[in-house]
Amino acid sequence: MQFVHKNIIIQPLPSMSQAGVEVAVLRLDQWHNVVSGNKWFKLKYQLQAAIQQGCDTVATFGGAYSNHLVATAFACKELGLQSIGIVRGEEPETYSHTLQHCKEYGMQLQFVSRQAFQQKETVKQTYNGANVYWVDEGGYSVLGMQGAADILSTASTQAFTHIACACGTGTMLAGLIHAALPHQQVIGISVLKGHTSLQQEVNALLPLADHNKPYTLLHDYHFGGYAKHPQPLLQYMQQLWQQEQLPTDIVYTAKLCYAVQDLVGRQYFPAGSKVLIIHSGGLQGNLSLPLHTLSF
Ligand SMILES: *Cc1c(COP(=O)(O)O)cnc(C)c1O
Repeated sequence: MQFVHKNIIIQPLPSMSQAGVEVAVLRLDQWHNVVSGNKWFKLKYQLQAAIQQGCDTVATFGGAYSNHLVATAFACKELGLQSIGIVRGEEPETYSHTLQHCKEYGMQLQFVSRQAFQQKETVKQTYNGANVYWVDEGGYSVLGMQGAADILSTASTQAFTHIACACGTGTMLAGLIHAALPHQQVIGISVLKGHTSLQQEVNALLPLADHNKPYTLLHDYHFGGYAKHPQPLLQYMQQLWQQEQLPTDIVYTAKLCYAVQDLVGRQYFPAGSKVLIIHSGGLQGNLSLPLHTLSF
């Protein structure tokens, strides 16, 4: 499974660090410009399984701005697999950048009503008989978790005491918990409002041996809810770009960076901590903003 290009760097973030607490970011966003960040990791064992099982098509679910959908479309194209995207909601008159890219990469898009989208098993049955490998929305699965566990092997991450990531489905977080060393504490920043079932969903992906590994979920950094991006968040993104040349996305990584900076300011991390932020990519999501909203 190739098409992976760059060496992953760990960038120190002096503007976020304070006496006794160092902050740095794992630049997984530089992994690939389409299958950026965590999506490739979550998909890789699932696509491998699809090929091993002799499936010629991979199908999955997502919204009109889903990073997962476009990553699946691109990865399938690279691997010679067909792809189907089940998209939540009626077909829009003008496609989002995400959907345009999905189409460009050959993904067959099927739009279903919000109600029908909730009935995933019923949707799957309409493809009965086809040679389809189904990937859950957001890549949520044990194979996705195992792929995400490999994120910590992309660079030298052993010296860090804390690892922080953004959470949608929690699949990446579960992988990081699985891979974390005993001296490392994993922190998940939920980008959904009131996602109270997240902990249960994360635990469901973890093998029994990991069930007593401590980790922390924080629910107060969603900025109003999924994909909401009020002005203060956009301002923060601009500031981070100016101070550190770190581009972030409105849905996940800006909220994550803001959370870590806020926690450092509140002395959440004990002296001597080394905090690693996982930049999980997703920059294509910023294309939904009006032109020139951001200077990167
Ligand atoms: C999809 C995505 C996430 C969320 O990952 P989960 O495994 O669903 O929690 C985080 N960051 C970015 C940039 C993403 O695209």
